[in-house]
Amino acid sequence: MSKRPKFLAAENLARLAKWLRFLGYDTELYRAVGFNNKLRILKKDGRIYLTRCGKEAGSNIAFARKLIRSGNHLEQLREIIDFVAIDQKRIFTRCSICNSGLYDIKKEKIRELIPDYIYENHEEYRICRKCGKIYWKGSHFLEMKKTLEQIFKKIG
Ligand SMILES: [Zn+2]
Repeated sequence: MSKRPKFLAAENLARLAKWLRFLGYDTELYRAVGFNNKLRILKKDGRIYLTRCGKEAGSNIAFARKLIRSGNHLEQLREIIDFVAIDQKRIFTRCSICNSGLYDIKKEKIRELIPDYIYENHEEYRICRKCGKIYWKGSHFLEMKKTLEQIFKKIG
């Protein structure tokens, strides 16, 4: 089994980071963290740095990096398509807000936190234990999944 890449996204790549997390990729994004501290994180965790900054990407210091050229998050995803893959088992496993793992939770336990029409129509829920966000496979989930399938189909 090949090792899955982990990423560190620059602050202005928040939407790309969200989509990578949706795909199940460990993607950190820190606000107001200087380049030297980012380098420390990259080396410690073995992450690939995603940046739109030519100066950072052109640095002489040795670290894994990828210069992102597009300003559109889906185009950005296409730019790194060689690094990533769509895997149905990995989708829906990572919090898109904070990058932590998601856990199954019984819907009865979160009854009060979910709108009635969602509760009545969905059986499967996951929760992020770090930030508390609750996920279900609603219309937003299905749209994102469909978009991703189209992106990866074009390549394959
Ligand atoms: Zn979270």
